[in-house]
Amino acid sequence: MAVPKRKVSRSRRDMRRAHDSLKSMAHAECPNCGELKRPHHVCASCGHYDNREVVEAAGL
Ligand SMILES: [Zn+2]
Repeated sequence: MAVPKRKVSRSRRDMRRAHDSLKSMAHAECPNCGELKRPHHVCASCGHYDNREVVEAAGL
């Protein structure tokens, strides 16, 4: 079994973890209903995209 040759120092370990934090998801306000939606995605609450309805509004 492959085994690490030497201990990863606190510094190296923490440098590796510097990129581990979760960033908040991208969001934008829907121009039709004002709900927060993900950019470049159909609005989940009203089904609009590009100022027209493209899918049936979910759950209404
Ligand atoms: Zn909407």
